[in-house]
Amino acid sequence: EHGSPMAPTYIFRSKLPEIDIPSHLSLTQYCFQHIAKFAHRPCLVESTGKNYTFAEVELYTRRVAAGFCRLGIERGDVVMLLLPNCVEFVLLFLGLAMRGAAATTCNPSYTAQEISKQVNGSRPKLIVTQALFVEKLAEVVDAVSHNFNIMTTDEALPNHLHISTLIQAEESQCPRVDILPDDVVALPYSSGTTGLPKGVMLTHRSLITSIAQQVDGDNPNIYMKPDDVVLCVLPMFHIYSLNTVLLCSLRVGASIVVMTKFEIVALLEVIQRFKVTIAPLVPPIVLALAKNPIVDKYNLSSIRMLMSGAAPLGKDLEASFHSRVPQAVIGQGYGMTEAGPVLAMCLAFAKEPFPVKAGACGTVVRNAEVKIMDPETGASLPHNEPGEICIRGEQVMKGYVGDPEATANTIDKDGFLHTGDIGLIDDDDEIFIVDRVKEIIKFKGFQVPPAELEAILLSHTAVADAACVPKKDEVAGEVPVAFVVKAQNFDISVASIREFVARQVVFYKKLHDVYFVEAIPKSPSGKILRKELKMRLEQTK
Ligand code: ATP
Ligand code: MG
Repeated sequence: EHGSPMAPTYIFRSKLPEIDIPSHLSLTQYCFQHIAKFAHRPCLVESTGKNYTFAEVELYTRRVAAGFCRLGIERGDVVMLLLPNCVEFVLLFLGLAMRGAAATTCNPSYTAQEISKQVNGSRPKLIVTQALFVEKLAEVVDAVSHNFNIMTTDEALPNHLHISTLIQAEESQCPRVDILPDDVVALPYSSGTTGLPKGVMLTHRSLITSIAQQVDGDNPNIYMKPDDVVLCVLPMFHIYSLNTVLLCSLRVGASIVVMTKFEIVALLEVIQRFKVTIAPLVPPIVLALAKNPIVDKYNLSSIRMLMSGAAPLGKDLEASFHSRVPQAVIGQGYGMTEAGPVLAMCLAFAKEPFPVKAGACGTVVRNAEVKIMDPETGASLPHNEPGEICIRGEQVMKGYVGDPEATANTIDKDGFLHTGDIGLIDDDDEIFIVDRVKEIIKFKGFQVPPAELEAILLSHTAVADAACVPKKDEVAGEVPVAFVVKAQNFDISVASIREFVARQVVFYKKLHDVYFVEAIPKSPSGKILRKELKMRLEQTK
């Protein structure tokens, strides 16, 4: 191409060298590859203190795989896990992976209607859940077009299967399966904060590649080791927790403390009691830890690494959070379900760390390529110019299940996945996300990133939480407005908030209205549910 009039292509890579990734293995072979070194250490730890060693988890995995086989679950079949965080979730996921089947993970708080959509799209032969959710599944049975069995993990119910048939299966009956790297092993659904949820086909190869990009190599991007205690409070049905928390810890031999749900006091107690060393979090939890005074009553000195991901974390919030856990390295990861999910990771987490800047969401992972594309011209952009973040590598999904058109709209003919996120890469190769393409507010054609306004609002001591959305406007098209949760014992006026923001931004980013609310609606993966806020705006008209 030299000498041609074509524009140059700018490709960004990790600062860490490429590594060999054993992506010919099956996911369970890969995760348990080094287990002999830490077989008798605790692998899964419940918040009661009960724990399972790596050897036990591996044994149960073989039993569960044998049990699935006996139930008629074949290679290529799909089973839905409709469960909150629990040890059983992990054993079921690994057992299915060993069997050559795929798990479609679903939020148990979903309505029957939401579950039905995922069941119709993923066609599971079996749904594993807790007794509490079985009644809801009766409605799903009526709403979907195919049959599935139901299994419970807690109470045994008449007419339904029970997990004991898997756990008590004979491990020697675990079948030999020829799993191919391209076989689907996880089928998570995008939560649908923007478009309709679609099934994301993640293969053995994609997950192995993603885990290796994070924790393998002489200088791993995330330095996790067998004496680490990793907090698992984020929902396992979301890929962030499934991959970065569970599978990465399994690979390296770190202990995983399983919490059923987020509650601030319970979380602080778990960190203190189990001496958590690595805490993967999302911004709503970071917000609580940064602003809630109760945090001072607990000893958090065991934490050495704090990771935030799944949604934007502003510089100021990061800084106020850091002042409460000064000994820890704080950084972000940047993920997207379709990307396997990790695109970028903070290099301060590496074994031989690099200096990083607050507000950055990491540097592209190793064995992958990133391009920043001008959304208008499609040209690739150099350092410091914002555009759509696109990534290529073996960790990227195989596609959306049953939707080749949506797949072709997301992965281009060169193999680059288009994220829909607008960001730039600075001179030190750190990625800064400006916002999501679809969430950008357009004021007379000027771009207003809600994340930027939210970060400013959160830096105000009287603001406990905030979210910005566009409001239709005859003149400007859209104007930015804010929903604000007042901090306890603070009173502020709409005018003073508007004024506080106006002093810090260019004219078109000024807030046109502020609505005080009790709470900001968020998804379990930590994202602001903007659709809900926009609906509220329509209703207040
Ligand atoms: P959706 O249905 O809206 O895609 P989801 O629950 O499926 O939501 P993901 O697929 O994991 O969630 O969401 C990926 C998106 O999360 C990214 O495209 C990006 O916009 C956002 N995101 C992830 N990590 C970060 C980060 N560190 N900073 C800012 N945004 C982030
Ligand atoms: Mg998504």
